[in-house]
Amino acid sequence: MRHLRFDNTFVRELPGDPEESSRQRQVLGALYSRVQPTPVAAPRVIAWSREMARTLGLEEADIASPVFAQVFGGNVLLDGMQPYAANYGGHQFGVWADQLGDGRAISLGEAIDGAGRRWELQLKGAGRTPYSRGADGRAVLRSSVREFLCSEAMHHLGVATTRALCLVATGDTVVRDMFYDGHPQDEPGAIVCRVAPSFIRFGNFELPAARGDIGLLRQLADYTIARDFPELRGEGEALYAAWFAQVCERTAWMVAHWMRVGFVHGVMNTDNMSILGLTIDYGPYGWIDNFDPDWTPNTTDAGRRRYRFGQQPNVAWWNLSRLAMALAPLFSGTGPLQAGLDHYAATYAEADRCNVAAKLGLAECRDGDTVLARDLYALLAEAEVDMTLFFRALADVDRRHPSLEPLREAFYDDARYASSAPAFTAWLSRYAARLADDPLSDDERRARMNAANPRYVLRNYLAQQAIDRAMQGDDEGIAELLEVMRRPYDDQPGNERYAQKRPAWAVHKAGCSMLSCSS
Ligand code: AMP
Ligand code: MG
Repeated sequence: MRHLRFDNTFVRELPGDPEESSRQRQVLGALYSRVQPTPVAAPRVIAWSREMARTLGLEEADIASPVFAQVFGGNVLLDGMQPYAANYGGHQFGVWADQLGDGRAISLGEAIDGAGRRWELQLKGAGRTPYSRGADGRAVLRSSVREFLCSEAMHHLGVATTRALCLVATGDTVVRDMFYDGHPQDEPGAIVCRVAPSFIRFGNFELPAARGDIGLLRQLADYTIARDFPELRGEGEALYAAWFAQVCERTAWMVAHWMRVGFVHGVMNTDNMSILGLTIDYGPYGWIDNFDPDWTPNTTDAGRRRYRFGQQPNVAWWNLSRLAMALAPLFSGTGPLQAGLDHYAATYAEADRCNVAAKLGLAECRDGDTVLARDLYALLAEAEVDMTLFFRALADVDRRHPSLEPLREAFYDDARYASSAPAFTAWLSRYAARLADDPLSDDERRARMNAANPRYVLRNYLAQQAIDRAMQGDDEGIAELLEVMRRPYDDQPGNERYAQKRPAWAVHKAGCSMLSCSS
């Protein structure tokens, strides 16, 4: 691990809390608190990402060395690490929650890789911080496996995301009431080492703004722009405006990619929105099996479904509007912030057209094509059709003799298949007619579609099967699943079992379709 070199700008350049204990408190006038990870009993590496390790200059021998598990279990600090928990607030389920902060995430420092890129290393589940608000600062194995696998899977799908270096079992138990229904249980604890250029969230800006600490707000904005948006030009308000527009643009693309691959974040609170436009905080997320815009995996949100699949683009806009409110004191008028929000809407519309063209295999998205896509989405929702299987198989439809046969496997219900077949057949004729008027050859079209419609996604039940095995002491399921998810767009002979419909038993099983915030 001699390659790991740190340059900790966040704690060096920004004001911190003078107190260095994990005592619960309101932290005013500071953007973070220095805090040490709490040691664990028996840290053991149970999974790691070879791409992330390679990026950081870590070799297999490093991962296997006893000190690696000690460091990423939170028992030992390497030279140059300066651990801290960030102070932020947020709107949770539409309501301002005031100070939240990293209650169980502890950043170790900013590692500089061989190419000069900056990677903040952060342990999730490393013990209490001043922001733990009465909770234990720990994470359970099941949620840590989910975060580890999904952040890497999203990266390989081409979605902007925080990453994961490794997953460490702590050897300690953690008590959780999985569905908040009075059944607390001992569960194995684990820690994920998350990695990102920055973990700064919308909520980091919202908290000083809500407290009227405009000096602190400005300091954080200036720092973020200088460190993470070096390509932006200008100064003063014009620079802030360019920055906000850029955050809006990145967020639009991020959400558009979620919609393309069928990812539902589950808890799009503003403290879970990255200022870099990265998917962040994998909790009760889920993947769409049957295409259902109203679906959410999060049982905590089951009543209102605020964060359901089809709502995500609108929620992102609402979250950006909260960020705009927080940044308003940096501007003399609201015009530039409104322009940023409009830029979000325009960018999302453009990204959505890109999705339509790529998913349907068209050289370009014409006006009528969005109608074609919308009509298809309505059919998919109505007939209970698997999103991933359908779009992948759509590439195999023969445009000269369009037939529903290659798509049959994507239907969950025989009766609905039969009753919707005429409507689908009619849609396929429209699609075939449109393809006849498209310049792409069949091979080009198929290649385009297969690069946008994954064969493999981290279906909820697949992650749960890996978790069930890990709970029995068999960690191999995690590595096997990660291996498949490294090449989601490739057909992988022998791995067909990872590319199937959700089995019936998974419909109502905890962890497969129902998840809570308890993690
Ligand atoms: P999340 O829903 O995971 O985004 O968490 C929302 C807030 O609760 C954040 O401030 C977390 O740091 C905090 N939090 C969640 N779980 C725990 C825990 N086990 N211990 C301490 N803080 C937690
Ligand atoms: Mg969070």
